[in-house]
Amino acid sequence: MAAPMQVELGFVENVEEFLLKSRFFPSKLGGRPAWLALESLPTTEELSCCECSQPTSFLLQISSPMPQKLETFHRTIFIFVCSNPNCCKPNSNKNFHVFRSQLPRENKFYSTEPAPEIPEENEVDASKCNKLCVVCGCLGPKTCSKCHKVNYCCKGHQALHWKKGHKASCSSGKDDNTDLSKFECLFPEMEIVTETENYQPEDEVEKTDKEKMKEYAEYLKTENMSQTCGEMPEAELQKMASKESENDKQLRKFKKRISLEPEQVLRYDKGQEPLWIAHDPKPDVIPDCKCGAKRQFEFQVLPTLLSHMNVDKVGVSIDWGTLCVYTCSESCSIGNTYSREYLFKQDVV
Ligand SMILES: [Zn+2]
Ligand SMILES: [Zn+2]
Ligand SMILES: [Zn+2]
Ligand SMILES: [Zn+2]
Repeated sequence: MAAPMQVELGFVENVEEFLLKSRFFPSKLGGRPAWLALESLPTTEELSCCECSQPTSFLLQISSPMPQKLETFHRTIFIFVCSNPNCCKPNSNKNFHVFRSQLPRENKFYSTEPAPEIPEENEVDASKCNKLCVVCGCLGPKTCSKCHKVNYCCKGHQALHWKKGHKASCSSGKDDNTDLSKFECLFPEMEIVTETENYQPEDEVEKTDKEKMKEYAEYLKTENMSQTCGEMPEAELQKMASKESENDKQLRKFKKRISLEPEQVLRYDKGQEPLWIAHDPKPDVIPDCKCGAKRQFEFQVLPTLLSHMNVDKVGVSIDWGTLCVYTCSESCSIGNTYSREYLFKQDVV
């Protein structure tokens, strides 16, 4: 029997900050984007939230090269999210943006050889080709009108920088000593590393209805219903199990699969089906790429990532069931630009 397609799982890991710079083509959570193409970055307008029009925050980037094609020797997918909880609506993707960037091995920004793993005084990054917001690392078309030395994407980030220390350095002309890593609007920066899932499909062989009910009865006992179910006679449990909705079933399947590696924050399974957290809604149609090619599922972000983002206050923070990213199946030519891709957010409601 042919080996089944294995899923690559993503985990977060602390690593020295310099290793997450553009020249290492990292997969990472938080901090500022380590832009791949260093020019034609998404504009402030393209990155503003479709709900509140404020700038979205950089969430994560996944390096997923396709070396079989010259143009995709380097390839990175970037996700941005509005951190305002009011913009986070069930099963809506309007507070997210996804972009794809790719480069051939020979390109105008990076050496064809792997970068040496030592800190670099003069880091090759997007600030060499663009005016970047000193706070969030996205394009910063606005300039401090007093010193003309620093740039911002928006008034909000200018005000943040002012409060954090620019107030003192702006007029004095002294070097700015603001600790730029300490802005609360950035998510904690961590590397995302991958590992192949060890999963035996035999676990999933079709069970009889009786077996399924027994399994569900066990689940009810162990889950949060343990107090109420503990003393319940078997017949009662079975009656409850038979009432399990399609969404309950899918959530249970999701949890079971995740429990094999409870620390996973991401599943990379290009061309396959996401591990849904609910039976519905699922996307009716995935919009085609602007090149005309179909988009295919590439990876999904799990709710376990939220606990690494300092946003895990239930009900008052952004959250999601799962974020499914769909990208151009051809990974079409885009030169040095950033091309929009599609995200579907599925929630448990
Ligand atoms: Zn918003
Ligand atoms: Zn900014
Ligand atoms: Zn200034
Ligand atoms: Zn395309």
